[in-house]
Amino acid sequence: MIISAQTSRDKWLEKVYKKAMAELDEFFELNWQQNQPKVFIVKNRKEIDKIWNQKTPKWLVGWGGRQSGVYILDRKNFKKESDNTYTKERYSALLKHELAHCFTDILTDGYRKPVWLNEGISIYLSGQLKQYEQPKKYKHFLKSFDKQKEGVYAEAGWVVKTLVEKHGKKKLFDLLKQIKTTKPNKKEFNKIFKEIYGVKTSITQPTSRHSLRKTGKISP
Ligand SMILES: [Zn+2]
Repeated sequence: MIISAQTSRDKWLEKVYKKAMAELDEFFELNWQQNQPKVFIVKNRKEIDKIWNQKTPKWLVGWGGRQSGVYILDRKNFKKESDNTYTKERYSALLKHELAHCFTDILTDGYRKPVWLNEGISIYLSGQLKQYEQPKKYKHFLKSFDKQKEGVYAEAGWVVKTLVEKHGKKKLFDLLKQIKTTKPNKKEFNKIFKEIYGVKTSITQPTSRHSLRKTGKISP
């Protein structure tokens, strides 16, 4: 398939990109200056479907990673071509979410499991937590290991927030490094997680400071 690309000048979006890259770089401590990810603006749903070579759901407005670059639906057509709400804040967060995937890809060498962790990092760092009320109970996220299952977006960002704010960035980076070297399945991941965090996880009390219970199991 041939896609025609043209460089566009959206000064506002360029500013958003720069700010997002700077903030993400500060978090990930990569000093990523060369070959920063390219962003492709896709005009409408028809073009998205062409790229995916299938009919895509209306919620799909952005994707990508370090290898492919980032694709997002043109903000001019956002309302018309998706069921997402368009505000500048949400659109900025969407771009930052996809860019965060690029950073995580570097740390994991593109291995994106568990899905909940991968998405959680992007949601937490992009500011999209504002779009999800803090869950009273975490019921769904652990089901999303290989594939994205229902309810993962609403919970995963809050889980990562807890991991980072309670246990620190370093442990998260250790976890990602282990993911990169071992490319773990679910069972192996649980073992790595326990080694790093010293606990099996059953994250049930997001409002408390003790979200990671010592006695629970990691599997749902
Ligand atoms: Zn994502």
